[in-house]
Amino acid sequence: MTQRIALIGKPLRRRHSQVMHDAAFAAAGIDARYELLELEADAVEGAVNEARGPDWLGLQVTAPYKRLVAGLCDLVEADAATIGAVNSVARTATGDLLGFNTDAPGFRAAVELAMGRPLAGVDVVVAGAGGAAHAVVFACLSAGAGRVTIGNRTVSFARELAKRFVDIGAGSITAVALRDPAFAAALRSADLAVNATTVGMLESGSTIEVEQLPAGATVFDLVYVPPETPLLLAARARGLRAANGSEMLIQQAAIAFERWTSVSGMAGVMRAAVAPLLVDASARA
Ligand code: NAP
Repeated sequence: MTQRIALIGKPLRRRHSQVMHDAAFAAAGIDARYELLELEADAVEGAVNEARGPDWLGLQVTAPYKRLVAGLCDLVEADAATIGAVNSVARTATGDLLGFNTDAPGFRAAVELAMGRPLAGVDVVVAGAGGAAHAVVFACLSAGAGRVTIGNRTVSFARELAKRFVDIGAGSITAVALRDPAFAAALRSADLAVNATTVGMLESGSTIEVEQLPAGATVFDLVYVPPETPLLLAARARGLRAANGSEMLIQQAAIAFERWTSVSGMAGVMRAAVAPLLVDASARA
Protein backbone atom coordinates (compact mmCIF):
# COMPACT_ATOMS: atom_id res chain seq x y z
CA MET A 1 0.00 0.00 0.00
CA THR A 2 1.44 3.35 -1.04
CA GLN A 3 1.25 5.71 1.92
CA ARG A 4 0.22 9.30 1.50
CA ILE A 5 1.01 12.82 2.66
CA ALA A 6 -0.83 15.82 1.22
CA LEU A 7 -0.17 19.54 1.38
CA ILE A 8 -3.45 21.44 1.76
CA GLY A 9 -3.68 25.11 0.77
CA LYS A 10 -4.89 27.58 -1.82
CA PRO A 11 -3.21 28.63 -3.96
CA LEU A 12 -0.37 26.10 -4.10
CA ARG A 13 2.17 27.79 -6.32
CA ARG A 14 5.28 25.85 -5.32
CA ARG A 15 6.32 22.24 -5.40
CA HIS A 16 9.46 22.54 -3.22
CA SER A 17 7.90 20.44 -0.42
CA GLN A 18 6.73 17.72 -2.79
CA VAL A 19 10.19 17.46 -4.38
CA MET A 20 11.93 17.26 -0.98
CA HIS A 21 9.61 14.67 0.56
CA ASP A 22 9.39 12.45 -2.52
CA ALA A 23 13.23 12.40 -2.70
CA ALA A 24 13.40 11.48 0.99
CA PHE A 25 10.80 8.69 0.58
CA ALA A 26 12.86 7.28 -2.31
CA ALA A 27 16.15 7.53 -0.38
CA ALA A 28 14.62 5.85 2.69
CA GLY A 29 13.00 3.09 0.61
CA ILE A 30 9.51 4.04 1.82
CA ASP A 31 6.57 3.44 -0.53
CA ALA A 32 4.85 6.80 -0.10
CA ARG A 33 4.06 9.95 -2.05
CA TYR A 34 3.54 13.64 -1.25
CA GLU A 35 0.53 15.15 -3.01
CA LEU A 36 -0.51 18.76 -3.58
CA LEU A 37 -4.18 19.37 -2.71
CA GLU A 38 -5.33 22.83 -3.69
CA LEU A 39 -8.75 23.00 -2.04
CA GLU A 40 -11.64 25.38 -1.57
CA ALA A 41 -12.41 26.00 2.10
CA ASP A 42 -15.53 23.83 2.08
CA ALA A 43 -13.49 20.81 0.93
CA VAL A 44 -10.88 20.99 3.70
CA GLU A 45 -12.82 19.12 6.40
CA GLY A 46 -13.47 16.18 4.07
CA ALA A 47 -9.80 15.99 3.08
CA VAL A 48 -8.69 16.09 6.70
CA ASN A 49 -11.13 13.32 7.65
CA GLU A 50 -9.87 11.18 4.75
CA ALA A 51 -6.36 11.44 6.26
CA ARG A 52 -7.56 9.37 9.25
CA GLY A 53 -7.43 6.32 6.94
CA PRO A 54 -4.71 3.65 7.22
CA ASP A 55 -2.89 4.66 4.04
CA TRP A 56 -2.17 8.15 5.39
CA LEU A 57 0.99 9.29 7.25
CA GLY A 58 -0.25 12.84 7.67
CA LEU A 59 -0.72 16.27 6.16
CA GLN A 60 1.01 19.58 5.71
CA VAL A 61 -0.96 22.79 5.75
CA THR A 62 -0.29 26.20 4.28
CA ALA A 63 -2.20 29.46 3.91
CA PRO A 64 -5.05 30.04 4.41
CA TYR A 65 -5.96 26.84 6.28
CA LYS A 66 -3.55 26.62 9.24
CA ARG A 67 -6.20 27.65 11.78
CA LEU A 68 -9.00 25.70 10.13
CA VAL A 69 -6.99 22.45 10.14
CA ALA A 70 -5.87 23.02 13.75
CA GLY A 71 -9.53 22.97 14.72
CA LEU A 72 -10.10 19.67 12.87
CA CYS A 73 -7.24 17.80 14.59
CA ASP A 74 -7.95 15.47 17.53
CA LEU A 75 -4.93 16.84 19.39
CA VAL A 76 -2.69 19.90 18.92
CA GLU A 77 0.78 19.98 20.49
CA ALA A 78 1.39 22.69 23.07
CA ASP A 79 3.99 24.60 21.01
CA ALA A 80 1.69 24.73 17.96
CA ALA A 81 -1.20 25.88 20.14
CA THR A 82 0.97 28.64 21.65
CA ILE A 83 2.23 29.77 18.22
CA GLY A 84 -1.33 29.61 16.89
CA ALA A 85 -0.48 27.63 13.76
CA VAL A 86 -0.51 23.96 12.78
CA ASN A 87 1.52 23.45 9.62
CA SER A 88 1.90 19.66 9.92
CA VAL A 89 -0.33 16.80 11.02
CA ALA A 90 0.60 13.22 11.85
CA ARG A 91 -1.81 10.29 11.83
CA THR A 92 -1.23 8.28 14.98
CA ALA A 93 -1.34 4.47 15.16
CA THR A 94 -4.91 4.73 16.45
CA GLY A 95 -6.03 6.95 13.55
CA ASP A 96 -6.09 10.21 15.48
CA LEU A 97 -4.74 13.37 13.87
CA LEU A 98 -2.03 15.20 15.85
CA GLY A 99 -1.30 18.78 14.78
CA PHE A 100 2.16 20.25 15.26
CA ASN A 101 4.38 23.09 14.02
CA THR A 102 7.68 22.58 12.21
CA ASP A 103 8.35 26.23 11.27
CA ALA A 104 9.64 27.12 14.75
CA PRO A 105 12.15 24.24 15.11
CA GLY A 106 13.03 24.58 11.40
CA PHE A 107 13.82 28.26 11.88
CA ARG A 108 15.87 27.52 14.99
CA ALA A 109 17.98 24.86 13.24
CA ALA A 110 18.54 27.04 10.18
CA VAL A 111 19.34 30.27 12.02
CA GLU A 112 21.74 28.56 14.41
CA LEU A 113 23.57 27.19 11.34
CA ALA A 114 23.63 30.69 9.82
CA MET A 115 24.90 32.32 13.03
CA GLY A 116 27.32 29.53 13.90
CA ARG A 117 26.07 29.67 17.52
CA PRO A 118 22.96 28.84 19.56
CA LEU A 119 20.11 31.34 20.01
CA ALA A 120 20.62 31.36 23.80
CA GLY A 121 21.48 34.86 25.00
CA VAL A 122 21.17 36.40 21.53
CA ASP A 123 19.77 39.92 20.98
CA VAL A 124 17.23 39.55 18.12
CA VAL A 125 15.33 42.04 15.97
CA VAL A 126 12.40 40.66 13.95
CA ALA A 127 10.60 42.55 11.18
CA GLY A 128 7.03 41.28 10.81
CA ALA A 129 4.20 40.04 13.00
CA GLY A 130 2.37 37.59 10.71
CA GLY A 131 2.25 33.80 10.82
CA ALA A 132 5.96 33.26 10.18
CA ALA A 133 6.96 35.91 12.72
CA HIS A 134 4.96 34.04 15.38
CA ALA A 135 7.08 30.92 14.77
CA VAL A 136 10.31 32.99 14.71
CA VAL A 137 9.61 34.89 17.94
CA PHE A 138 8.46 31.72 19.72
CA ALA A 139 11.62 29.87 18.57
CA CYS A 140 13.89 32.70 19.77
CA LEU A 141 12.27 33.09 23.19
CA SER A 142 11.94 29.37 23.87
CA ALA A 143 15.61 28.87 22.87
CA GLY A 144 16.67 31.49 25.46
CA ALA A 145 17.17 34.65 23.38
CA GLY A 146 18.09 37.55 25.68
CA ARG A 147 16.07 40.26 23.97
CA VAL A 148 13.55 40.21 21.12
CA THR A 149 12.39 43.43 19.45
CA ILE A 150 9.49 43.06 17.01
CA GLY A 151 8.93 45.78 14.43
CA ASN A 152 5.82 45.65 12.26
CA ARG A 153 4.23 48.01 9.75
CA THR A 154 0.96 47.66 11.72
CA VAL A 155 2.19 48.18 15.27
CA SER A 156 -0.94 46.72 16.91
CA PHE A 157 -0.11 43.27 15.45
CA ALA A 158 3.43 43.51 16.86
CA ARG A 159 1.99 44.36 20.28
CA GLU A 160 -0.45 41.42 20.13
CA LEU A 161 2.42 39.09 19.24
CA ALA A 162 4.57 40.40 22.12
CA LYS A 163 1.66 39.98 24.56
CA ARG A 164 1.01 36.44 23.38
CA PHE A 165 4.60 35.33 24.12
CA VAL A 166 5.40 37.46 27.16
CA ASP A 167 5.68 34.37 29.39
CA ILE A 168 7.87 32.30 27.04
CA GLY A 169 11.50 32.05 28.18
CA ALA A 170 13.35 34.58 30.32
CA GLY A 171 14.20 37.15 27.64
CA SER A 172 12.58 40.55 27.21
CA ILE A 173 10.18 41.29 24.35
CA THR A 174 9.39 44.71 22.89
CA ALA A 175 7.00 45.75 20.10
CA VAL A 176 7.43 48.86 17.97
CA ALA A 177 6.42 50.17 14.55
CA LEU A 178 8.84 49.34 11.75
CA ARG A 179 9.34 53.06 11.09
CA ASP A 180 9.84 53.93 14.79
CA PRO A 181 13.38 55.17 15.59
CA ALA A 182 13.34 52.57 18.40
CA PHE A 183 13.48 49.86 15.71
CA ALA A 184 16.66 51.33 14.21
CA ALA A 185 18.06 51.74 17.73
CA ALA A 186 17.43 48.04 18.47
CA LEU A 187 19.30 47.10 15.28
CA ARG A 188 22.42 48.87 16.60
CA SER A 189 22.89 46.26 19.33
CA ALA A 190 21.41 43.22 17.53
CA ASP A 191 23.27 39.95 17.08
CA LEU A 192 20.56 38.74 14.69
CA ALA A 193 18.15 40.59 12.40
CA VAL A 194 15.31 38.58 10.82
CA ASN A 195 12.99 39.57 8.00
CA ALA A 196 9.71 37.69 8.54
CA THR A 197 7.64 39.90 6.22
CA THR A 198 6.73 39.36 2.57
CA VAL A 199 8.91 42.35 1.59
CA GLY A 200 11.59 41.10 -0.79
CA MET A 201 9.24 38.40 -2.09
CA LEU A 202 5.96 40.11 -3.08
CA GLU A 203 7.57 43.51 -3.51
CA SER A 204 11.07 44.87 -3.74
CA GLY A 205 12.63 46.78 -0.87
CA SER A 206 13.88 45.96 2.60
CA THR A 207 12.56 46.10 6.16
CA ILE A 208 15.96 46.30 7.89
CA GLU A 209 18.61 49.02 7.54
CA VAL A 210 21.74 46.85 7.53
CA GLU A 211 24.02 49.86 8.04
CA GLN A 212 22.63 50.10 11.60
CA LEU A 213 23.77 46.58 12.50
CA PRO A 214 27.03 45.82 14.34
CA ALA A 215 29.82 44.15 12.33
CA GLY A 216 29.29 40.74 13.96
CA ALA A 217 25.54 40.54 13.24
CA THR A 218 23.76 37.89 11.18
CA VAL A 219 20.93 38.74 8.78
CA PHE A 220 18.33 36.03 8.16
CA ASP A 221 15.63 36.54 5.54
CA LEU A 222 12.76 34.02 5.59
CA VAL A 223 12.12 34.76 1.92
CA TYR A 224 13.66 32.18 -0.43
CA VAL A 225 12.01 33.19 -3.74
CA PRO A 226 13.91 35.12 -5.01
CA PRO A 227 17.01 33.57 -3.44
CA GLU A 228 18.79 36.93 -3.05
CA THR A 229 16.61 39.75 -1.71
CA PRO A 230 17.76 43.39 -1.54
CA LEU A 231 18.21 42.84 2.22
CA LEU A 232 20.59 39.91 1.71
CA LEU A 233 22.53 41.72 -1.01
CA ALA A 234 22.98 44.74 1.29
CA ALA A 235 24.02 42.53 4.22
CA ARG A 236 26.61 40.68 2.12
CA ALA A 237 27.90 43.99 0.72
CA ARG A 238 28.52 45.03 4.35
CA GLY A 239 30.36 41.77 5.01
CA LEU A 240 27.71 40.44 7.43
CA ARG A 241 26.71 36.79 7.72
CA ALA A 242 23.53 36.42 5.67
CA ALA A 243 21.15 33.56 4.82
CA ASN A 244 17.82 33.23 3.05
CA GLY A 245 14.88 31.05 4.12
CA SER A 246 15.78 27.98 2.07
CA GLU A 247 17.52 26.16 4.92
CA MET A 248 14.50 26.80 7.18
CA LEU A 249 12.29 25.23 4.52
CA ILE A 250 14.60 22.21 4.34
CA GLN A 251 15.00 21.82 8.11
CA GLN A 252 11.26 22.03 8.78
CA ALA A 253 10.64 19.42 6.07
CA ALA A 254 13.22 17.05 7.58
CA ILE A 255 11.63 17.49 11.03
CA ALA A 256 8.15 16.67 9.64
CA PHE A 257 9.54 13.68 7.69
CA GLU A 258 11.07 12.25 10.86
CA ARG A 259 7.80 12.71 12.75
CA TRP A 260 5.89 10.75 10.06
CA THR A 261 8.42 8.00 9.34
CA SER A 262 10.85 7.86 12.32
CA VAL A 263 13.62 8.25 9.72
CA SER A 264 16.03 11.05 10.67
CA GLY A 265 18.91 12.69 8.81
CA MET A 266 17.08 13.45 5.56
CA ALA A 267 18.03 17.16 5.35
CA GLY A 268 20.94 16.44 3.00
CA VAL A 269 18.78 14.41 0.58
CA MET A 270 16.12 17.12 0.67
CA ARG A 271 18.67 19.93 0.18
CA ALA A 272 20.08 18.24 -2.92
CA ALA A 273 16.61 17.51 -4.35
CA VAL A 274 15.29 21.05 -3.94
CA ALA A 275 18.49 22.85 -5.00
CA PRO A 276 17.46 23.27 -8.68
CA LEU A 277 14.19 24.94 -7.61
CA LEU A 278 15.93 27.24 -5.15
CA VAL A 279 18.31 28.75 -7.69
CA ASP A 280 15.51 29.29 -10.19
CA ALA A 281 13.51 32.36 -9.07
CA SER A 282 10.70 31.44 -11.47
CA ALA A 283 10.26 27.96 -9.94
CA ARG A 284 6.57 27.81 -9.11
CA ALA A 285 4.26 24.92 -9.75
P1 NAP B 1 1.72 36.96 6.64
O1 NAP B 1 1.13 36.22 7.80
O2 NAP B 1 0.84 37.38 5.51
O3 NAP B 1 2.44 38.28 7.26
C1 NAP B 1 2.98 39.24 6.38
C2 NAP B 1 3.86 40.20 7.16
O4 NAP B 1 4.53 41.05 6.21
C3 NAP B 1 3.11 41.12 8.12
O5 NAP B 1 3.90 41.38 9.24
C4 NAP B 1 2.94 42.39 7.25
O6 NAP B 1 2.77 43.57 7.99
C5 NAP B 1 4.26 42.41 6.55
N1 NAP B 1 4.26 43.22 5.34
C6 NAP B 1 3.62 42.98 4.17
N2 NAP B 1 3.85 43.97 3.29
C7 NAP B 1 4.66 44.87 3.92
C8 NAP B 1 5.25 46.09 3.54
N3 NAP B 1 5.07 46.62 2.32
N4 NAP B 1 6.05 46.73 4.42
C9 NAP B 1 6.26 46.21 5.64
N5 NAP B 1 5.73 45.05 6.07
C10 NAP B 1 4.93 44.39 5.22
O7 NAP B 1 2.89 36.14 5.96
P2 NAP B 1 3.78 34.99 6.63
O8 NAP B 1 3.11 33.68 6.46
O9 NAP B 1 4.15 35.44 8.00
O10 NAP B 1 5.06 34.98 5.67
C11 NAP B 1 6.05 36.02 5.71
C12 NAP B 1 7.22 35.62 4.82
O11 NAP B 1 7.90 34.51 5.38
C13 NAP B 1 6.81 35.22 3.40
O12 NAP B 1 7.72 35.79 2.48
C14 NAP B 1 6.94 33.70 3.41
O13 NAP B 1 7.27 33.17 2.15
C15 NAP B 1 8.10 33.53 4.38
N6 NAP B 1 8.12 32.19 5.02
C16 NAP B 1 9.20 31.42 4.82
C17 NAP B 1 9.27 30.18 5.43
C18 NAP B 1 10.49 29.32 5.22
O14 NAP B 1 10.45 28.12 5.54
N7 NAP B 1 11.58 29.88 4.73
C19 NAP B 1 8.23 29.71 6.25
C20 NAP B 1 7.13 30.55 6.43
C21 NAP B 1 7.07 31.80 5.80
P3 NAP B 1 1.28 44.07 8.41
O15 NAP B 1 0.93 43.30 9.64
O16 NAP B 1 1.47 45.52 8.68
O17 NAP B 1 0.37 43.79 7.26
